[in-house]
Amino acid sequence: MNTHTKEIAIGNVKIGAGNPIAVQSMTNTDTCDIEATATQINQLAGAGCEIIRSAVYDLNSAKAIKYIKDKISIPLVADVHFDYKLAIAAIESGADKIRINPGNIGKKERIQKIVDCAKSHHIPIRIGVNSGSIEKEIQQELGNTADAMAKSAMKHVEMLENRNFYNMVVSLKGSDVVKTINACKAFDKMSEYPQHIGITEAGTMQQGLAKSGVGIGTLLNQKIGDTIRVSLSCDPIIEVQAAWDILSACGLRKRGIEIVSCPTCARTTINVEDLAVKVKNEFKDVIKHIKIAVMGCVVNGPGEAREADLGIAGGKEHSIIFYNGEIVEKVENDNAMDALRQQVKKYLNK
Ligand code: SF4
Repeated sequence: MNTHTKEIAIGNVKIGAGNPIAVQSMTNTDTCDIEATATQINQLAGAGCEIIRSAVYDLNSAKAIKYIKDKISIPLVADVHFDYKLAIAAIESGADKIRINPGNIGKKERIQKIVDCAKSHHIPIRIGVNSGSIEKEIQQELGNTADAMAKSAMKHVEMLENRNFYNMVVSLKGSDVVKTINACKAFDKMSEYPQHIGITEAGTMQQGLAKSGVGIGTLLNQKIGDTIRVSLSCDPIIEVQAAWDILSACGLRKRGIEIVSCPTCARTTINVEDLAVKVKNEFKDVIKHIKIAVMGCVVNGPGEAREADLGIAGGKEHSIIFYNGEIVEKVENDNAMDALRQQVKKYLNK
């Protein structure tokens, strides 16, 4: 968490100034389909999404914000490009924050109108700068670099500050991990506004997870970033789960099942992958953090399993079950999943 940033409220979620790093995602339903969008938001909230963003691409989608908000309980951010009238319509429809790129809104008077509207509705604006949308003059001076991204974001910040608007969040994103990290670091040195961080267009699931883990993880580890989004070309539920995995790996926030499982080798006596996936899936809706070890043999297994809240270490015909560091059961390998399931339930009910 970044304690030197300003506190900004997005609906009932506060970010910056040492507040917990908030998890964000984005809907991929049609925003005009109120039912489908609200259903997806509620599913994402169930998986741990704390702030949701939806694309507002026309007047109907701006108006839909009002009705979607009636059906959800997490703050809703309207993502608007090009048309200031849509930004105003989304704010008037009850958006808890709007995300714009002032660079593509056009004339200063239009930006002024958005600022006035956000101010009167007491909502923040997120300035989003992508590596593809750096201001032309800055790009001519500094090239398409991390410093250019940071300077471009700062120029937009000053544009809004000059209109006496200080309720801002900033994001600097690109698909290049190192450039994004350096841009966020550069901006962090220049400003106290909270940052929403992520690697944009990170790609398909496997590649995107690696890029997001490195990018977001590196920044969080340097105390940069106040909200995060993992962007993946897949079901946004996976984005939210991955965001929690990154927060957990950084030792910042923990939620749900954390699996410690071995990579397997010639000594493996139980189906580690199957057990690990099954236990993770079966308890995917659990909010309480539990560390479960699934180890393939008794060589390293017991040591690792002892450090988890509960776990299993495979043996030739029988596996050993651990609970709070103690061996509590010896079960036939065929009954390993049942035994593990019982221990998880016991832990959840304690
Ligand atoms: S815990 Fe045992 S089975 Fe798993 S990788 Fe290590 S030695 Fe192999």
